[in-house]
This record gives sequence, structure tokens and C-alpha cells, in this order.
Amino acid sequence: MKHTHGSEAVEAGRLRGATDRTDYFYFFCPECPGDRLLRILDYQVTRDDKENEYNASSKHKAARSFITAFEIACEECGFRDCVKISSVGRQGGTHAEALG
Ligand SMILES: [Zn+2]
Repeated sequence: MKHTHGSEAVEAGRLRGATDRTDYFYFFCPECPGDRLLRILDYQVTRDDKENEYNASSKHKAARSFITAFEIACEECGFRDCVKISSVGRQGGTHAEALG
């Protein structure tokens, strides 16, 4: 996996996604029209700890603290970037608040 940091193309709400008719989640290409689905080429766990600092103040307890980075790419336009999913980012609130 080449990068573990995304570019501005995926920040500020520009990378969106949704599940298909099952429970699989897909990211949409931020460059192509029509919510074209991206491929996920690789992933890397960049943090994995047994504790979670937010458990003390949260109703639902996380099993661990993790950060997973995904390398994403569009077959159509050549877009290629990185996005992360973690248990140590925001723990609630609204998307508008997360955008700042
Ligand atoms: Zn594309």
C-alpha cells in the first residue's frame, strides 16, 4: 500500500458511499458522475490497541482502538487515493459538525 493519508479529494465530505442491496459498503468516485463505485485495492491497520479512551464516556463500549487505511481507485477515470475508518475519531454528533 503506497499511501496512508488521503488527499484533499477525499476530505471535507467529498468522498461519499453507501451499501448496495446487501450489507457491503462501497465508496463512490469523487471525480466521476453517477456514483461510480471504487475498487478497494488494499488496506493497512495503522493502529490497534486494546484500550479505547472514549469508553469511559460512551454508552457503547469499543473492543479496541483501531485505524484502518484503505487504498481506493476508480477503474473509469484513474482516481486513486486513501481513506481511513477508525474507532478513535469522532464518537457521535452530526456530519455538519464533523465538517467544522
Ligand atoms: Zn472515477
